[in-house]
Amino acid sequence: MRTLILLDLKIDKDEALAMCDEYAEFYENNTGIKCVWLVERRDFSVVPTLPDATGDLRPTDKFRKDLETEVHSRYRDYGVDNIVMWVHEDNFVFKGLWGVAWAYNFFKYSLLLCRWDKDNSTNTFNTFFHELEHPSDTLIKKELGIDINPLIANHFGVSTFNYDRGYVHGESDLFTYIGRRGYKRDGRMQQFLAPYLTRAYKVRKEKHEKDIGLMKQVVFLLTKLVGLLQLAVNKK
Ligand SMILES: [Zn+2]
Repeated sequence: MRTLILLDLKIDKDEALAMCDEYAEFYENNTGIKCVWLVERRDFSVVPTLPDATGDLRPTDKFRKDLETEVHSRYRDYGVDNIVMWVHEDNFVFKGLWGVAWAYNFFKYSLLLCRWDKDNSTNTFNTFFHELEHPSDTLIKKELGIDINPLIANHFGVSTFNYDRGYVHGESDLFTYIGRRGYKRDGRMQQFLAPYLTRAYKVRKEKHEKDIGLMKQVVFLLTKLVGLLQLAVNKK
């Protein structure tokens, strides 16, 4: 899983990396998947917002689209899997929210907005964990064409299941809300999803390699064409 972290200038980089390590250890223990983190600094002191239907303040669509477009210009569709917009609480103007996950919205990434609590690392970690869990059902659907909900229901022996509500938001009897006070990390869902997640991330990586391979071929052919044109010019 390749995650590009856009790290608020106000957040201590070493503390953020330590948190990524902690997450990666938990994730790899449960899924066998290694986490790759790419970290870039960003100034999030000014982010335009718009209230959503419930009155929460979210970054505007234009802001998110511009941000993703810039990432896409460098990483193309499949060069990373997630983008995390990690915003320090002093800059966290998104009233009513701890974080948001948008999966496959403008491009083929999951964009995760996460709040960084300066005096509560448990809150910070759990928000990060919560938002990183959200896109897994969409990822599996988009990359493998599999609706994971009936398979989860079957695995845990219930009649129906909704991944986001039942697991991430803990509305089923099986799980508790990720991040609720006193929350204990639970790897059962990651363990069940592991083979699907492994395949989905592999598919994405292969698409990226194919994409890069095609680009290299185009560059090679263009170079050859320029060479031939130069020959033709020289002959005149
Ligand atoms: Zn949520």
